[in-house]
Amino acid sequence: MQNTLIIDGKAISAAIKEEVREQAAELKTQHGIVPGLAFLLVGENPASQSYVRSKERACEYCGFHSSTVTMPASASEREILARIDAWNIDPDIHGILVQLPLPDHVNEDCVIEAISPRKDVDGFHPVNVGKLVIGQEAFLPCTPAGIQELLIRSGIETAGKHVVVVGRSNIVGKPIANILLQKTAGANAVVTVTHSAAEDIGLYTRMADILIVATGRVNTVTAGMVKDGVVVIDVGINRVEDASRERGYRIVGDVDFEGVRERASAITPVPGGVGPMTIAMLMKNTFRSAERSAAGR
Ligand code: NDP
Repeated sequence: MQNTLIIDGKAISAAIKEEVREQAAELKTQHGIVPGLAFLLVGENPASQSYVRSKERACEYCGFHSSTVTMPASASEREILARIDAWNIDPDIHGILVQLPLPDHVNEDCVIEAISPRKDVDGFHPVNVGKLVIGQEAFLPCTPAGIQELLIRSGIETAGKHVVVVGRSNIVGKPIANILLQKTAGANAVVTVTHSAAEDIGLYTRMADILIVATGRVNTVTAGMVKDGVVVIDVGINRVEDASRERGYRIVGDVDFEGVRERASAITPVPGGVGPMTIAMLMKNTFRSAERSAAGR
């Protein structure tokens, strides 16, 4: 397809962070409130440490206050819950983020449920998940919220369009399906979800006007599996060996980018598509929470 739009997630995420930074400065001037985001890091997983550092940098950029507590991998569930309880009642903290995964002896569900739904800026608490499903105002999980934002800011209409989601995880597939199903602006789509139990996902992907792929498997979708003019959002982040790179690998998505872009009207690259949106939406959620507390809600 000629003139395929390559959706620039880096630029869109930078624009969102800039907007949040301006709004946060205004909130501080008008109400004396600085959005505060707390991070809990348990153990020494290098990927988790690096994610938290990136989120701390984004807080700094947006003029937020951030507070990181690091606990050893041996920390008990009770110690973790006590930390969360303290943040739940701390008026300077508007968002609480527990970096996952947690060590095996800790029940992640219990920890997520201990976070006040009003400070659950990751949008993983069952109260927020439930509100999303029934169409009430809620914190939306950051990656799917970022996908919706990418579509809106790229001028891609979703109303009445057939969105096919490949993958049904609680952090990407299910929430993005629910977000785009809502009878609201930027959504109102006809949504199909497919997954590993489908005999032939191509039957569904070929029917998509907008195809969202989140499987964590390289080449889940190839050129023969899409129709001409499709919009493709590739959520996957996979490492593949690449001896030509100094670090010995490169990052690719779940979609065969080169093949599929020939047929697509728009497509997200990996890296530089969905990836940068997650942190931008975390900043947006945290700002909203601080704004809500300024309004006494
Ligand atoms: P999960 O492993 O939790 O879920 C993958 C889903 O894909 C499952 O529902 C699985 O089906 C389905 N699936 C796997 N293989 C196939 C296949 N061959 N055909 C059809 N469906 C398949 O992954 P996540 O949702 O957490 O993440 C998906 C990808 O997105 C990963 O690469 C991850 O790194 C990336 N990601 C990126 C983010 C970002 O950009 N910020 C944030 C989060 C994730 P079943 O349920 O039947 O097992």
